[in-house]
Amino acid sequence: MAQQRRMGGQPLFILSEDSKRTQGRDAQSSNIMAGKAVSESVRTTLGPRGMDKMLVDSSGNVVITNDGATILNEMDIEHPAAQMIVEVAESQEDEVGDGTTTAAVLAGNLLAEAEDLIEQDVHATTIVEGYHEAARIALEAIDEQVLEADVDDDVLIQVATSSMTGKGTGGLTPAALAETVVETVRHVETDDGVERDNISVHTQVGASSSATELIPGIVLDEEPAHDDMPTSVEEADIAILDVELGVRTGEVDAEYSIDSIDQLNAAIDAEENELREYAEEIVDSGVDVLFTTDDVDDRVASLLASEGILTFDDISNKKARKVATATGASRVGALEDLSSDDFGYADTVRTDSYGDDDLAFVEGGAAAEAVTVFVRGGTDHVVDELERTIGDALDVVSTALDSGEVVPGAGATEIAIADHVRSAAAGIEGRKQLAVTAFADALDIIPRTLAGNTGQDPIDSLVDLRAAHEAEGRAGLITDGETVTIGDPIEFGVVDPADVKREAVESATEAATMIVRIDDVIAAE
Ligand code: ADP
Ligand code: MG
Repeated sequence: MAQQRRMGGQPLFILSEDSKRTQGRDAQSSNIMAGKAVSESVRTTLGPRGMDKMLVDSSGNVVITNDGATILNEMDIEHPAAQMIVEVAESQEDEVGDGTTTAAVLAGNLLAEAEDLIEQDVHATTIVEGYHEAARIALEAIDEQVLEADVDDDVLIQVATSSMTGKGTGGLTPAALAETVVETVRHVETDDGVERDNISVHTQVGASSSATELIPGIVLDEEPAHDDMPTSVEEADIAILDVELGVRTGEVDAEYSIDSIDQLNAAIDAEENELREYAEEIVDSGVDVLFTTDDVDDRVASLLASEGILTFDDISNKKARKVATATGASRVGALEDLSSDDFGYADTVRTDSYGDDDLAFVEGGAAAEAVTVFVRGGTDHVVDELERTIGDALDVVSTALDSGEVVPGAGATEIAIADHVRSAAAGIEGRKQLAVTAFADALDIIPRTLAGNTGQDPIDSLVDLRAAHEAEGRAGLITDGETVTIGDPIEFGVVDPADVKREAVESATEAATMIVRIDDVIAAE
């Protein structure tokens, strides 16, 4: 529908005929509906009893997951307002690594509450102001919920366990994995905080998930350049070369014409000599393990093998960087420059094969405390979900350790925030008060959904939780094995990093207010 304005009786077209324009309430309600729909789609996955989703893409690839960010990413979402909810989950994932479902569900419910207010003729600007005010009060309430106790290993294990409860752990108990997770994070803890980037997760199908272990180093999908090379080298001096170790074809653009056997033999000899020289230079440098980003000729590899030098060729730039960071080796661009000054060091470099896959382990690197969680599981689906679960747990433990702040989980913090915001609303003048109260009501979606997903009546549970919060000051809906009880989450060890809650409040508010503020959608064909 083309838009027209009349000027002196003549219609004035400002948009192309193919543009589609929706304005006012229509625009608002269609955006809100789309945002709500997306958020609704992840609701059933929230909490320890949340269900998984199976996502099948157009080429038939299957992902089975419980992770909010993954679900929203895998869904092929087109609507621009719906896309904003996906971004909430994405920014939550980027900033703190967990709480993606919470953030998306909260954003959806903030929209639902806003829709009611719009119907009562509360202006969008008032809603936006009220929501921002409420978010500020909510952040204060989160500060109040932060536990006094030190965030020690016991608390970190609880944080990890809480984030993994109900996730795909390949049949393992979250508690069993939590210890590995905390040990891993402790490895990369420095005076400046947790170096999360030094933690990798490497998945390998073919064993039970209980074989999942911490590798004090890095793991690469690489096999030795030659079968006769050693499979393990201790106290290894390590070099990284960005040089091709083969006959340099193409370097001299000449054509030989060979017209006798002698000449052919001479040419072959020259080639062999060149290759032998490469091998000799490497051997003379005293290196034990060599990584190259380029090709190594089979003949060179064979010579290196006979000298006991473990070599990996054709490794990617990224892997070369990883080896450099872990071992302290500097990369060398010309063979003649290779010297022990450039060497890195690792306690052990070893290779192992797992079915059809060959892996290299570089352990005890001298430079950085790089560590890898080596995730095992029976099938691709199991290891993939385990990788996401462990990734979230590594994130929350890093976040909790960095800030030293954790809050009660199981809906208790949300109940407390809602309560605080609701009381604060009473002191706010005008219609903005309605928006602040609506924000508090929106927060109830988290405990309500946790209850609903455990098969409890959401409304009854909410009422009971509020009463318990009123009486005890801290109350969550705790899932413990088969039972669901209202109690103090701290006593059950259900805790989340404070930053996960803060980020969820902020990112959900941001997306919801952005969507509410839109009253004109102009879409090009
Ligand atoms: P998100 O993507 O938001 O992290 P999850 O499905 O991981 O969603 O659920 C997180 C919620 O589950 C948090 O509110 C957390 O406190 C809660 N939770 C974790 N463990 C328990 C438990 N044992 N009982 C009740 N709630 C729990
Ligand atoms: Mg989670």
